[in-house]
Amino acid sequence: MKINCNIIRDLLPLYADQVCSDESRELIDEHLAECRGCSALLQQICNTDIETDLKMEAEDVLHHQADFFKRKSAVIGTAIAGIFTIPVLVCLIVNLAVGAALDWFFIVLASLIVAASLIVVPLVMPENKFLWTLGTFTASLLLLFGVICIYAHGSWFFVVSSSVLFGFSVCIFPFALYTKPLRILIGNQKGLTVMISSTVFFGLMMLSIGLYAKSSDFWRIAPVISLPVLALIWLLFLFIRYAKIDALVKAGICTSVIGICTFIGDSLINTWLGNHKPLPVFRPFNWRIDTVDGNIKWLVLISFSIAGIILIVSSIIKKIKEK
Ligand SMILES: [Zn+2]
Repeated sequence: MKINCNIIRDLLPLYADQVCSDESRELIDEHLAECRGCSALLQQICNTDIETDLKMEAEDVLHHQADFFKRKSAVIGTAIAGIFTIPVLVCLIVNLAVGAALDWFFIVLASLIVAASLIVVPLVMPENKFLWTLGTFTASLLLLFGVICIYAHGSWFFVVSSSVLFGFSVCIFPFALYTKPLRILIGNQKGLTVMISSTVFFGLMMLSIGLYAKSSDFWRIAPVISLPVLALIWLLFLFIRYAKIDALVKAGICTSVIGICTFIGDSLINTWLGNHKPLPVFRPFNWRIDTVDGNIKWLVLISFSIAGIILIVSSIIKKIKEK
């Protein structure tokens, strides 16, 4: 009697666990001798233990769940995008009805695109939500600035855009570097990437402000103030990132340097600008409006220097203990 493969396959788990009757066992043996498909299935059943089975099932469930949420959020995102088009259409109709040029309509449109970049994009994009949201938000924000600037006949677009981009590169861009695509692209040069992008945007911002201000004083004063600060930040960064010495010593040196720079910075920059400004004076028992500045700078110098020395000494003590 020829037995159907399906019946055999139902019995195979019992056969593999050796809990079926002798009669069934004989039948299955006979079938397996002739059927390659069922033999392969038996092999598979014997090779899979219960733990891998459970793991595969759990992964399957998680996968389905993730897929389900992705589809759901895409549907919600599309629905919200649909709702967003209602005010756009209303504005367009009203704008055309009153016979006006399509000027303020574009402001409404750009504003809605900004809102959509924050609400719709994270819902609709299946992967890299953070990067997509950040990218579309930045682009739509610049678009909004551009539209308002044109509408208001202003010339401030580059000042505002470069300032916003500089702010983003300092505050948000470092987090974007932890997302998967950028992590693969940049590797362990995150700090350097942030420093370079921030410096570029800072330069663009200063350039835009300078061109907008149209004042020769700006070009005389701004570089003298900003370049030494920029150089100090770069030196601290390169020292912290690449110097091969103990982290506590690094922290101690940086803390002391920041204290000293806060103390002398103002006098130094003023001297470079041609205004004589003496070093701060310490009058700890006299806190008036004209002495506060000097007192605070002295306190910063003293406390930062002490903190720096403590850090360096603790590193030395740690070294001695290790030996
Ligand atoms: Zn079979």
